[in-house]
Amino acid sequence: MNLEPTQEQTALGERLRAVGATQLGADVEAREHTRGLQPGDWQRCAQARILALPVPTAYGGLGLDPLSCAVALEGLGHGCRDNGLLLCLGAHIWAVEMPVAEFGTEQQKQRYLPALCDGRMIGAHALTEQEAGSDAMALTARARRDGDGYVLNGTKRFVTNAPIADVVLVYATLDPALGFTGVTAFLVDRDTEGLTVESRFEKTGMRTAPWGEITLRDCRVPAGARLGAEKQGSRILARAMAWERSLILAPLLGTMRRQIEQCVQYARSRSQFGRNIGRFESVAHRIVDMQLRLEAARLLTRQAAWKLSGQDASYAPEAAKLTTSEAAVATFLDAMQVYGGLGYTTDTDIERNLRDALGTRISSGTSDLQRVLMAEKMGITARARRTPPPAQAARPGGERRAHAR
Ligand SMILES: Cc1cc2nc3c(=O)[nH]c(=O)nc-3n(C[C@H](O)[C@H](O)[C@H](O)COP(=O)(O)OP(=O)(O)OC[C@H]3O[C@@H](n4cnc5c(N)ncnc54)[C@H](O)[C@@H]3O)c2cc1C
Repeated sequence: MNLEPTQEQTALGERLRAVGATQLGADVEAREHTRGLQPGDWQRCAQARILALPVPTAYGGLGLDPLSCAVALEGLGHGCRDNGLLLCLGAHIWAVEMPVAEFGTEQQKQRYLPALCDGRMIGAHALTEQEAGSDAMALTARARRDGDGYVLNGTKRFVTNAPIADVVLVYATLDPALGFTGVTAFLVDRDTEGLTVESRFEKTGMRTAPWGEITLRDCRVPAGARLGAEKQGSRILARAMAWERSLILAPLLGTMRRQIEQCVQYARSRSQFGRNIGRFESVAHRIVDMQLRLEAARLLTRQAAWKLSGQDASYAPEAAKLTTSEAAVATFLDAMQVYGGLGYTTDTDIERNLRDALGTRISSGTSDLQRVLMAEKMGITARARRTPPPAQAARPGGERRAHAR
């Protein structure tokens, strides 16, 4: 396994760093209050081919391998200060584009992928419900077969991109008694009758990333809107989560890198007791620990990316996501300490980065759930998989594949 970036990968990361630093994320502080992306940023990302990174070339993408994407996106995060924009991009690429690319029919790929790559369409992924968060396969949104189509009913919440999405990848069940085996995925266009979006909750961080609730009320979609086969939803979700957990936090590695570079500069220039604070061992060692966490998270992210190209990534995606999100929170807390009182003000990026990073320990499955999944995949808590016998199928809740998120 060679995780060292090639010259091409490094050059792409550098190019995206420059795009992020000079073209994206303007006025991020002001937009924390208005809760939205900078007008034009999505189109600029499309022009820079960021939306196209992993998508096959036949459908308007660059067709890059996951490791190249990891290096490229770390570069982007190094340059771009708007973590909300980076989250929106990640949800769009990993939880919508990739499922369409891997499970879509030829017609669905032709219809959605070129438009998702060139910025004409934005994607959202709608899984979470009020009573189905970590226990995602307990979802109750219903899909009822009706003639040559389906009728969808249910409410999803905390959906990143919901207010700006043109297409929503919705997970619904044909019958809650079937548990995870009943889950089916649908590509629902925003203008479909019966689909409404509301934005009720204010976020602690990632405030520039629009999110919301999606309600489906007797929302009729043609059979051609189904992604994959009936009852294949949990498989599609598992694969989408492998992509998302491996790569959605790759830009955050760049954010951590920028923050550490700033801490080094500050430690070399801020003087107390007649010497630069970096000369105090506790300050220097704190920054060393930040660097160690970054390097561990980067290696695990690249390892997960590498393994994604193979048949079974095992627990590499969970390890990458868990380590990177926890490293980010610890890094921004440490940065605040290095800067002292100044770090606690809103004059630096530190407090915003910290608030943004807190959300990454929850989205794409909480840190607890990453550990639960790793324990299962390591065989510590392995559970038997079975299809519910008919007698049990009628039981409320039916078969649950716990923690399928
Ligand atoms: C910034 C952000 C963006 C998001 N974007 C999206 C999106 O685009 N689409 C979408 O569908 N959802 C999205 N979500 C929702 C997210 O996936 C859920 O919030 C998350 O999976 C947790 O579910 P929950 O909030 O219901 O918490 P719960 O599942 O209720 O968890 C509450 C607490 O219990 C713990 N817990 C639960 N079960 C276990 C267990 N078995 N073992 C140990 N601890 C457990 C959790 O770790 C947590 O601490 C987003 C969330 C955030 C914060």
